[in-house]
Amino acid sequence: MKEGRIVKVSGPLVVAENMAGAKMYDMVKVSRHRLVGEIISLKGDLASIQVYENTSGIGPGEPVYPTYQPLSVELGPGLISGIFDGIQRPLSIITKRIGPYITRGVEIPALDRERLWKFKPLVKIGTEVVAGDIIGEVEETPLVVHKIMVPPGISGKVEKIEEGEFKVTDTIAVIGGKEIQMLQRWPIRSPRPYKDKIAPNAHLTTGQRVIDTFFPLGKGGTACCPGPFGSGKTVLQHQLAKWCDAEIIIYIGCGERGNEMTDVLTEFPQLKDPKSGRPLMERTVLIANTSNMPVAARDASVYTGITIAEYFRDMGYSVAVMADSTSRWAEAMREISGRMEEMPGEEGYPAYLSARIAEFYERAGRVICLGSDSREGSLSVIGAVSPPGGDLSDPVVQATLRVVKVFWSLEDKLAYQRHFPAISWLNSYSLYPPNIEESIKKEVSEKFIEQTREAMKLLEKEAELQEIVRLVGIDALSPQDRLVLEGARAIREDFLHQNAFLDTDTYTSLKKQAAMLDMILYFYEKTKEGLSKGLSISQIERMKVKERIARAKHIPEKEIDRISKIKEEIDREIKELLGE
Ligand code: ADP
Repeated sequence: MKEGRIVKVSGPLVVAENMAGAKMYDMVKVSRHRLVGEIISLKGDLASIQVYENTSGIGPGEPVYPTYQPLSVELGPGLISGIFDGIQRPLSIITKRIGPYITRGVEIPALDRERLWKFKPLVKIGTEVVAGDIIGEVEETPLVVHKIMVPPGISGKVEKIEEGEFKVTDTIAVIGGKEIQMLQRWPIRSPRPYKDKIAPNAHLTTGQRVIDTFFPLGKGGTACCPGPFGSGKTVLQHQLAKWCDAEIIIYIGCGERGNEMTDVLTEFPQLKDPKSGRPLMERTVLIANTSNMPVAARDASVYTGITIAEYFRDMGYSVAVMADSTSRWAEAMREISGRMEEMPGEEGYPAYLSARIAEFYERAGRVICLGSDSREGSLSVIGAVSPPGGDLSDPVVQATLRVVKVFWSLEDKLAYQRHFPAISWLNSYSLYPPNIEESIKKEVSEKFIEQTREAMKLLEKEAELQEIVRLVGIDALSPQDRLVLEGARAIREDFLHQNAFLDTDTYTSLKKQAAMLDMILYFYEKTKEGLSKGLSISQIERMKVKERIARAKHIPEKEIDRISKIKEEIDREIKELLGE
């Protein structure tokens, strides 16, 4: 094999000559340590290589070995529960074998080569199959059945297939003369193919009231949650991982500081899947950059994560990707671009920043998968962005907002007031409601959709009134306006405020959300009527039933009826106060 030669090393960027014949995004092995690198620019026989391991001590003259293969991930049983680094090296296995510090050039395959998996065929010999068809399955964990699919590009008659225990590299079937293994490879920078993209008109329930009620996400949708440090991005991502109704979770951790990553690595495996009571890891894949890897590895981790997510989407699952934080990824792009002496764009980020971010989010979607059964799969992407100082004019935030359809604006002002989740109801938005209203109507009711609008109007009115109060004081407000403040306060404190750490509050079904909102708006309407019949605003402010309204969030899911009973109490108390 022809070898290249290093002419320059600049941190994670290596320039090598004599590289003719190699292609963009080919994987190469750099130096005698055989560090993993990827070609990110080719000029004649000169290649710029982004190296995913520490390049210290490496210098000009050392060899570069081309592989003529694009940087790829391994796909097959063994992914779920796995903790991988940006180039899919299995961190858990490496830690066991070598200790917490990965030495350079370690070559351990992503998927365990020794482990046996019970393969159950789902097609018979003689069946004609096409790419994407599911030919068998493996129970990967108690929560996930791993479907074995005909790889893209292969079709024909099943000539051989058998049940039994196999390693991922064993041949489990022969199709159209080709031997099929459970292990497949896919280049991380190419989106995996599907038949058709369909409208994201199914609702991805998250159990988080502010999200489901006001800023919902569609299955296959995209969302971003920018916010300053301490505003609750991590708690929100964990809540979504635990509670959103996706079957598979892919968590990409691009931490800056070592301890951010250690948090993920220690916290995530302890999370419980609330629906089954089993460890959440049994339906999760974790991609984490360790602190001793260069920043460039963050770039690979984002693509590795989304490719694995597409693979599970192709099986017909609903998959959710959480990327935390995409700002760190963008910083990696900035560093590499700077070292390549490219023309910098805004704040030193490369001119292609927006294009890369858009390409990443465009890999989300609800699709008809390859295969003859026309199954549906979805891939939702939720990216955290951590702009310096929480500044939303940051280029990464702006580039992200141009592509995502949901924006949850986490604000430190709310976090200081201990209003969690600190998602601003005034600045956030979701473009999905027109698509998913039908599915919400079916699950709850049309009335709920109208009520979400009414509630939002109250909150907007509150913001205007607060401005007046700030200028001229509360006495300037009419009783009606003061009642608006009272109603909006109930929506904020008794509905939007949700404690992630309280068992009774951490998750709320859509039905319960509808019942709560209905009850709070009922309180507002009825007290408004009371006001016109002679109740005073201070009487309303002192009503006993308010205590019951505030505690309604803790009413168990099974006893939702108790929430509508509070409406009767509201009636009773108003009648009493009016002396009726
Ligand atoms: P970030 O990742 O943005 O720096 P974190 O997610 O670590 O912020 O949140 C900071 C703190 O805010 C948490 O430790 C927790 O005390 C509090 N917090 C955030 N979200 C919630 C929530 N939904 N319920 C209760 N507390 C929360």
